[in-house]
Amino acid sequence: MAVTRFAPSPTGYLHIGGARTALFDLIWAKNTGGKYILRMEDTDQSRNSPTAARQVMDDLSWLGIKWDEGPIIGGPAGPYFQSERLDIYDKYIQRLLTAGKAYYCFDTAEELERMRKEASDKKQNFLYPRPEEFPTKADAEKAKAAGRDVVVRFCMPDEEIIVEDVVRGQVRFRGKEISDFIIQKSDGFPTYHLACVVDDELMGITHVIRGQEHLMNTPGHIAMQKAFGFKTPVYAHLSVIVSQGGGKMSKRERAKVLKAAIKKEQGLDKAKLAAIGGISVAEIEEFLSGDAMPDTPAIDAMAAYLKVELPEINIIDFFKSGFLPEALVNFIALLGYSAPIDKEIMTLQELIDSFDPTRFNKTNCLFDRKKLLAFNTEHIKMLDEDKLLSRYKDFLAAVNSPAAVADDTLLRKVIKACSGARTLAEIDHKSRFLFTADDKVEYDQKDIEKVLLKNDGEGLAMLGLLKEKLAELKEISEQSIENLLRRIAEQKQVGLGKVAQPLRVAICGTTISLPIFESIEMLGINATISRIEQVIKKYSKGS
Ligand code: GLU
Repeated sequence: MAVTRFAPSPTGYLHIGGARTALFDLIWAKNTGGKYILRMEDTDQSRNSPTAARQVMDDLSWLGIKWDEGPIIGGPAGPYFQSERLDIYDKYIQRLLTAGKAYYCFDTAEELERMRKEASDKKQNFLYPRPEEFPTKADAEKAKAAGRDVVVRFCMPDEEIIVEDVVRGQVRFRGKEISDFIIQKSDGFPTYHLACVVDDELMGITHVIRGQEHLMNTPGHIAMQKAFGFKTPVYAHLSVIVSQGGGKMSKRERAKVLKAAIKKEQGLDKAKLAAIGGISVAEIEEFLSGDAMPDTPAIDAMAAYLKVELPEINIIDFFKSGFLPEALVNFIALLGYSAPIDKEIMTLQELIDSFDPTRFNKTNCLFDRKKLLAFNTEHIKMLDEDKLLSRYKDFLAAVNSPAAVADDTLLRKVIKACSGARTLAEIDHKSRFLFTADDKVEYDQKDIEKVLLKNDGEGLAMLGLLKEKLAELKEISEQSIENLLRRIAEQKQVGLGKVAQPLRVAICGTTISLPIFESIEMLGINATISRIEQVIKKYSKGS
């Protein structure tokens, strides 16, 4: 029975890599009938925010990743925000200090910098020079009173540490090549390393699943577990996810795209852009000239203002692009893992039931968006009608679509008419004509040319006829509309396309739309006729 935990540092939205970790935490725990804990690692006072913690929880919930213990629901090992557990960490830090396995340091930033430089000049890794004799508590207090920053460092043992990793096999580290790292910062907060090791023990964690970037931290964690007499959990470090551009999928990629767009923009009002992003002009300048990166909400707001599409990285980006959580879960679970089942489209339950920890891959895995689109298409088909409607309504609200106010009956029809759609955004896009005022329909000039004006205005003439015939229609239904259009095509001895396409352009502004009979039925005869009149007026010769 595995007890797992997802332990995000709530610094921003949940991204694709974090979601994969969270998902395998859940899958592993549930496959073994175990328990899945959510723990907020919010010990970095400068970077963590309660809004980000909320967002991470919302994103997990949207994905259907439910925790058994953690924030909101509580549990016997709480509190689950590390910032509320400081007294616990203090006790453990004290234990190491007393046992001589940790020591106080009070170097200034300049002193540390000098030591680092000396090491790099000699082309060596920086190893903190452990003092022969450790400073006492009184020494530390004196240094603090003199204005120095006091931290506590852990004594790395001089021995080989072997990480038995489920994904990578045995990975060996030499303790003496790892610097004595900080376990308590000068603000009194523990570092991630200390808090993580203590909590994994106190929360009874048996399996630690996390991204490969943490593998380097693991020997230090194992050394601390030994120093405390804790058990070492099973480790699984999941492979790196790379984007199609070749880089690591990270929020830096979004910032990079935005930065390029801002730089390209001519005569940009930076003060306005800053106000939209909720940041200062100085921060924009810093962003443009260096490595500084605004927060995700600021980046999103500025991108929306400049109408720049940013690459999807965060779970919320995929939500707003119209992906279903079911599809995303299915897709994410196959990043760096191959399920022992003979099919790719799977539900979360199937992933849980078939889980096999020997099937993780070591090599980097590619985020293939086309594959995600294919998965999404399948999951849209698979989802039951009510669930799909509710997902669609959430999506419409999130993207502020004018369709968000439509009633369920109409939305159900829209969804049905869009069968085969790859994303919810596609459904919204194709049905926008239903939620646009007649005089606000935007006409695609190429389609107007091709479908209405070509061959001496053949399409326009067809619209004239259609207008009359539609007005005479007694009963309005998909069927009666279909009958009418087919009859006209027959009488005129043309294919149905010659009748349907002009109509499509007239009511939607483009030839890309839903099936025509359903479209007219949903839009209603009056709006259809008024759009036809509008187009005839606008594009007839001499007008
Ligand atoms: N707080 C760490 C992170 O967000 C968690 C690492 C771990 O799972 O140990 O990367």
